[in-house]
Amino acid sequence: MKVHFKGTRGSIPIAPTATEVQEKVVASLLAARGKDLRSERQIREFVEKSLPFRHSSTFGGNTPCVHLETGSEDYLIFDGGSGLRVLGKELMDSGSASGKTFHIFLSHFHYDHIQGIPFFAPAYVPGNKIVFHAAHKNLRETLIDQMKEPYFPIDFDTFQCETTFEVHAPGDVIETCNCEIRLIEQDHPGVSFGYRVDGEDASVVYSTDAEHKNQAHCKDYPFIDFIRDANLLIFDAPYTHSQSMGIREHWGHSSNIMGVELAARGEVETLAIFHHDPGSSDEEIEDFLAHTKKFLERSKIAVKETKSGIPGAPSPRSNPQKVLMAYDGLTLSF
Ligand SMILES: [Zn+2]
Ligand SMILES: [Zn+2]
Repeated sequence: MKVHFKGTRGSIPIAPTATEVQEKVVASLLAARGKDLRSERQIREFVEKSLPFRHSSTFGGNTPCVHLETGSEDYLIFDGGSGLRVLGKELMDSGSASGKTFHIFLSHFHYDHIQGIPFFAPAYVPGNKIVFHAAHKNLRETLIDQMKEPYFPIDFDTFQCETTFEVHAPGDVIETCNCEIRLIEQDHPGVSFGYRVDGEDASVVYSTDAEHKNQAHCKDYPFIDFIRDANLLIFDAPYTHSQSMGIREHWGHSSNIMGVELAARGEVETLAIFHHDPGSSDEEIEDFLAHTKKFLERSKIAVKETKSGIPGAPSPRSNPQKVLMAYDGLTLSF
């Protein structure tokens, strides 16, 4: 299975400013001083292997959209943020967007998760089919309403493809794209839903816009079973621990520390931090990753040194082998 991240930013799309791009160029040229960089190959190798991500690249600014390549002819997509526009353009450019069926699963209807749908070019190709999936009952009305006057210049009926709507509930097992898909209700203003995808070769959990509060530390917290043994957990964590417990409590999102803790208890292989704060720079996100990894290493030592069975001992866990910050354009293979 391949997981393509098309949009990883939360709340609102952002773009780097001219000054920010210039700073990356300056930092890169400073780092290149004195290096033997004559050929294009040498320069590319230096950029890819020697420069920090914050200088050579960017985490990106498109809002949530993840495409799962499962071996099926049909497309499996999670959320329709502004990253969906990018996916649609890529498919159109490569000639892979006609006579296709697209399954788009929506976590909830906050703008950052649906604003890309009117800009999804394959929707304007006759013969295509889009099946919208969600667990909120007002799925059809909401998608039609976001394209009504005065919010948008053309209405939903302008789509040339066939559109259908499927409303699911926790407990359902949806069989599509060679996978079984299950869902879980999550704590978020207006409620959101996380999805678990079990394919032939891997299991992936897409869980965004979810606030895991104190009850997450209970032994039988349902989310643990939901994510258990997944190869990849895509986890909404724009906040530090102190933000999530302080000024941003009840905003509907979680911390990196909570992500590591839940991934460890669920014995998840890879944790991908997702839904980055629109106010965070590339530097800040890269530092956030360093802190997250440091916490992971310390918690491994703490678990090793604590005898199991005594009060306060950590519950059974297998720390994630890998923690990363998702970015627009990242592809992971399992
Ligand atoms: Zn969001
Ligand atoms: Zn939201």
